[in-house]
Amino acid sequence: MTDIWQAALSDLETKVSSHNFEAWFKNIAFHHQEGRVAHLEVSDEFYKIWLEDNYIDLIEESLGAVSGSTMRVVINIAGELEQRERRVDIEATAPAARDARVPAQPIDPQTNIFNQLGGARPAPPMQRQPAAGLAPQQAPASSASLEQQILAAGLNPRYTFDEFVVGPSNQFTHAACMSVANNPGINYNPLFIFGGVGLGKTHLLQAIGIEILKARPNARVVNLSSEEFMNQLITSLRQKDMNSFREQFRNNCDVLLMDDIQFIGGKDSTQEEFFHTFNALYQAGKQIIVTSDKSPKELPGIEERLRSRFSWGLIADVQPPEIETRLAILEKKAEADGLLLDKEVSMMLASSVRSNVRELEGTLVRLGAQASLMGRPITTDMVREHLQRLNIEQNQVISVERIISVVARRFNITSADIRGSRRTKTISEPRQYAMYLARRLTDHSYPELGRLFGGKDHTTVLAAFRKLEKLVASNQQTADLLRDIEVSLSR
Ligand code: ADP
Ligand code: MG
Repeated sequence: MTDIWQAALSDLETKVSSHNFEAWFKNIAFHHQEGRVAHLEVSDEFYKIWLEDNYIDLIEESLGAVSGSTMRVVINIAGELEQRERRVDIEATAPAARDARVPAQPIDPQTNIFNQLGGARPAPPMQRQPAAGLAPQQAPASSASLEQQILAAGLNPRYTFDEFVVGPSNQFTHAACMSVANNPGINYNPLFIFGGVGLGKTHLLQAIGIEILKARPNARVVNLSSEEFMNQLITSLRQKDMNSFREQFRNNCDVLLMDDIQFIGGKDSTQEEFFHTFNALYQAGKQIIVTSDKSPKELPGIEERLRSRFSWGLIADVQPPEIETRLAILEKKAEADGLLLDKEVSMMLASSVRSNVRELEGTLVRLGAQASLMGRPITTDMVREHLQRLNIEQNQVISVERIISVVARRFNITSADIRGSRRTKTISEPRQYAMYLARRLTDHSYPELGRLFGGKDHTTVLAAFRKLEKLVASNQQTADLLRDIEVSLSR
């Protein structure tokens, strides 16, 4: 049967992306077969539920195809079957039913299924030490010393799992973080969390640190952003003290929480040092968790060897929360701050601040402060007024006027030049850039834009837009320049 499982795996490999294959299939162990039922084993419940929810049909299909008969699959958590068997041994008098079984294979979550079954798969890129580096649980810390530990590790005590609101947009990543917090260094290493600004990446990262410290007060949790990592590296280099830098990150660290890895893009020496840090920790079975604003594949300026290491464990993303989750976040936050929040008020807030939880929280805090100054609860009028102000500010950011003035400054010409009719290249080119950006970043129609650009025909704006669209796709320099201008526009 192990041969059939091997064949099924090969078949599955062609049916799912390599990323998903690595993440979900490579560590499944075949346990035994009972008639047409194949028992598989995985290391924990998170894994089991995910496979059952997403892949069981596919696995059954592949097993059926390679074995030539319909197969059903049961996914067990490692050790469960043995436990059950022991119970049966005690309870039953006739052990005959077990005779036909393949001997039970204990699962070491560190080892690759393909090695266990003697398959032809390559060994994992690096052999880790057999036991994870984290000491077994000690007595939980008293709450006072836990608080100190949390602060000493530079963690925000508010960023706990309890304070995190789970919804469809972050459910998977939240579950992965809980799993890593409960079994550091074992299940998903590294854990790579990515997603947009203000969606809870730092919160989840630190929640893992806090949860680990709760259960293992002596765990050495090192928490920092990749920018801080770089700064410390520079200081150590300057002071010719690389030994203590390496000691700190490679030997005195059980859990590395590395926030905002995107910052080291293009910073070669920092990447080099991080690469060696990563390897040392990984080989010692220490847990690494990384956050980023982009997936490993999309991260600019990251060396290939690092990019591929980020995919060794599990990659999980956070999406902007749905309205229900936004409402729940508001409720939770209001409760924590002792604010009274009317249903209508929270609905209004949750439906207007959508893509960034930090902004949602910020709005609530500002309104709360305003309300308490006035000695009354937050009203819908206050929210409306606040949102209007916010809207005006946002519109200012992307007004055509602002685009024209930023582009003009960039090319050392004046706004009047852009609105004017001179066609020398030094002016017509920036004008086209500004038109392109105005079309992309505002809601104005082509005729409106023509007017705002000093009374030009809408076809002029349209032509500029089409030209730039092509250029952006074919010319990296133009694309970079435009992105640059866009960044300065959003400041
Ligand atoms: P990121 O690191 O992704 O930019 P943060 O983790 O800093 O975002 O989150 C921004 C703020 O929003 C924090 O105060 C965090 O506590 C809060 N937050 C984000 N997502 C959630 C959530 N699902 N539940 C509760 N608070 C959240
Ligand atoms: Mg962050």
